[in-house]
Amino acid sequence: NKQIHLDNRPDGEAVAGNFKLVTAETPALADNQVLVRHHYMSLDPYMRGRMNDSKSYAQPQPLGQVMQGGTVGEVVESKHPRYAVGDKVVGFGGWQEYSVVDASQPGALKKVDTTHVPLSHYLGAVGMPGVTAWYGLVKIIAPKAGETMVVTAASGAVGSAFGALAKARGCRVVGIAGGPDKCKYVTDELGFDACIDYRQHPDVKSMSAALKEACPNGIDGYFENVGGYIFDAVLLRANAFSRVALCGMIAGYDGQPLPLANPALILINRMKIEGFIVSEHMEVWPEALTELGTLVGTGKLKPRESVAQGIESAPEAFLGLLKGKNFGKQLVKLI
Ligand code: NDP
Repeated sequence: NKQIHLDNRPDGEAVAGNFKLVTAETPALADNQVLVRHHYMSLDPYMRGRMNDSKSYAQPQPLGQVMQGGTVGEVVESKHPRYAVGDKVVGFGGWQEYSVVDASQPGALKKVDTTHVPLSHYLGAVGMPGVTAWYGLVKIIAPKAGETMVVTAASGAVGSAFGALAKARGCRVVGIAGGPDKCKYVTDELGFDACIDYRQHPDVKSMSAALKEACPNGIDGYFENVGGYIFDAVLLRANAFSRVALCGMIAGYDGQPLPLANPALILINRMKIEGFIVSEHMEVWPEALTELGTLVGTGKLKPRESVAQGIESAPEAFLGLLKGKNFGKQLVKLI
């Protein structure tokens, strides 16, 4: 069983040397345990935060242990009465080829139906990233039909789901993404009304002008994934009583400062800004996953994936994700 461990913590930017490839034996199963062969593992930006040992909402990733993370796969051996060999499951098996899971633990493993939704999408649009978009949109922004929504990292796992969910509620949806290919995908395949390439608008003034054109009625809801000057530009175009779901600030995950130029606009616009962590709202997951599964199953959400091959590729693929080299949900395919 090949595994990737966190070997040492980053000093500033995360590097490949923070990780170590290890080969381990798979232990014999005890009662209620199942052995899962992972087909895909998920790489997610939040993992960067856990590589540090500073105080956060989640415990740091322990050193010398398998990197934690979401996985989908197939039961290959079972000592639990509700799981049979061949069942497709989503779990939290980490960066390794196989995991031994105590299936009697609530939430440790969930069987999934791959009739209409490919297995890998349970780590993306019909999984944690999809629910993240749903929570921020539905519970924080609470959009009305006709309102204008803006989302950063629009082509990514969370951003793409956000767009489909907001379109389904009758909103105008404007994405912000890096480069012409990502922007084309956001408008042509995901059905956003417009997409702004931030590389063409590298400062607040230029981005604010681009937002003015893409959002003629101003901005009512903003879903923040990145942080930095784009947030300042959004504040300049935000309507009175607009809402911001603060989901991620990936531009600062390696420790870069993300100053806000004019926070007075939050007051002037009487805005609501709320941060959230999706795993603290398990009560919404069933409803969110049902809607997301339907959007994917009916082709209204066409998630894109960046698939790295083999466990050895995980560290580089993860570092690429933190630099925007992925195009869609970043996965590692293991078989
Ligand atoms: P994505 O698939 O969106 O991948 C990350 C993307 O971030 C990149 O592709 C890149 O797209 C974009 N990006 C923009 N600016 C930068 C920058 N300065 N440096 C690096 N990347 C940049 O990832 P996810 O959909 O999984 O996650 C999106 C955000 O949601 C992240 O901030 C993540 O931390 C957050 N999140 C929060 C959760 C919560 O519970 N609060 C749960 C899950 C995710 P581009 O090329 O277009 O810039």
